[in-house]
Amino acid sequence: MTAISFEFFPPKTDDQRAQLQRALPQLKARSPEYVSVTFGAGGSTLSYTPEAVRELRESHQLDAAPHLSCVGGSREEIRELLTRYRDMGCRRVVALRGDLPSGMAAPGDFRYANELVSFIRSEFGDSFHIEVACYPESHPQARDAQTDLANFKRKVEAGANGAITQYFFNADAYFRFRDDVAAAGIDIPLTAGVMPISNFAQLRRFSQMCGAEIPRWIDTHMTGFGDDTTAIRQFGADVVASMCRRLIEGGVQGLHLYTLNRAQATLAVLDRL
Ligand code: FAD
Repeated sequence: MTAISFEFFPPKTDDQRAQLQRALPQLKARSPEYVSVTFGAGGSTLSYTPEAVRELRESHQLDAAPHLSCVGGSREEIRELLTRYRDMGCRRVVALRGDLPSGMAAPGDFRYANELVSFIRSEFGDSFHIEVACYPESHPQARDAQTDLANFKRKVEAGANGAITQYFFNADAYFRFRDDVAAAGIDIPLTAGVMPISNFAQLRRFSQMCGAEIPRWIDTHMTGFGDDTTAIRQFGADVVASMCRRLIEGGVQGLHLYTLNRAQATLAVLDRL
């Protein structure tokens, strides 16, 4: 069976905490292999992410893995965070560069995620299983796909154990990327990042920023649904589930669902598989 994992963001307000608490029992019932908690670059979630990881581990008995982005951070800060995570019992981290919030100039001690992966390995040996990010449709700042792949390889050579993809809505992009990765001599599992669709306007804005393509046929259907949220959700779940089915048939090693701390859209996809 294909392993599934869920991604959460760390709640910062009481409303957000309540939202995550509502979603957790239903998501936990799907037996995720692990869950991960995102991290805001530039220190904005320096305390929220560890708090959320601790809560998920201690109160919900979930294997919670922190994301750690290095841009804007110092070696000392990152060493301290990793020590806290190790002491909490975390054995898996998702190591990222992150993006500096606009207006924030200080780049910190690390420029790219491969430097963070090397740092973790040199300071913490094999204490952590390290996941990194990868981009079947290329990272938006990459000069071209080949350069992006070469940069991905640096992270693997630095010691990454696995990679989670940016989300995509075109299974062929994943399969082509997997072939390219294999041809480049990289041999780590490529878990597919999956974005269930609930709010399409928000998804469109977000996809423009992170460079994920929304195929025209999906966009035109969604546009036609207007404010009909039921139709949007049903169509979204059908489209994402049928893509996941293709990925599973094609031997994908894992599905990592971006839950946005809500259960409904994620469950709608899983129920269709
Ligand atoms: P890198 O691997 O460093 O790549 C960034 C860019 O630089 C790419 O264009 C790459 O080709 C290029 N590059 C890489 N290495 C080098 C090098 N040595 N020399 C020259 N160029 C290089 N962001 C957050 O802030 N918090 C999160 O919790 C978070 N979680 C994420 C989870 C997943 C699964 C994914 C896919 C993304 C996540 N992101 C998160 C977003 C991520 O931080 C951004 O996409 C960011 O712009 C790149 O991060 P990276 O780790 O892929 O960077």
